[in-house]
Amino acid sequence: MTTPSIAVPAYRLPAGRVAHWTGGGFAVPEGYVLAARRAGATPLAVMESDPDAAVRVLDAVGGLMLLGGGDLDPALYGAERHREVYGVDRDRDAVEIAMTTAAIERGMPVLAICRGIQVLNVALGGTLIQHLPDLPGLVQHGVPGGGAPVAHQVKVSPESELARVTGAEVLACSSHHHQALDRLGDRLVVTARSDDGVVEAVEHEGPGWTVAVQWHPEDAAADDPAQQSLFDALAEQAHGYAARRPV
Ligand code: MN
Repeated sequence: MTTPSIAVPAYRLPAGRVAHWTGGGFAVPEGYVLAARRAGATPLAVMESDPDAAVRVLDAVGGLMLLGGGDLDPALYGAERHREVYGVDRDRDAVEIAMTTAAIERGMPVLAICRGIQVLNVALGGTLIQHLPDLPGLVQHGVPGGGAPVAHQVKVSPESELARVTGAEVLACSSHHHQALDRLGDRLVVTARSDDGVVEAVEHEGPGWTVAVQWHPEDAAADDPAQQSLFDALAEQAHGYAARRPV
């Protein structure tokens, strides 16, 4: 069996983020890389700023994995920018939205994590809640980019692909996000929520396999088979997609 390759758009790191480097860089946090490798996939970092060039990378891979990161530019979903919006990188937004749209059009498997579920939603015309702490009565969803680790439960819809893959009705999830999905994008279906009703997972009603989660499965995947199963499923789907793809 050939090893499925997974395109992974990288973060752009500003100068000063890596000690002893004179400039910035591009990076993928190792949790995602190690989870993909355990699944038997080869993750390939995409370090493009040109959306067309990034989409061409999809010709050579079996799947797409979208990672966490800073907030999307609210202008992309027609909203004024909230003061707590941070880390906007318009190049990264454009690259990831183009790759997501292209992958869905092709029926290519997509696993979207944290910022990734937000990219997926905005790419399909949805909107975001820009700052969850503005809303009263929510469970703790953590702080993006670190802070104290927060875990909360999510309830999984029984008929969903998420339920089939994880075998779970309730998942314990590592959470660090301050935004969440608001109006859903085209053909997205909610497949998990936290106890406060925040959308924690969606799937796309298309021919392809598209699973998106608001939490961080890579944080616990080494020790929690239910979290690792998301990466295993992506690898399996990517293998099947690559075998079916016309040459
Ligand atoms: Mn959460």
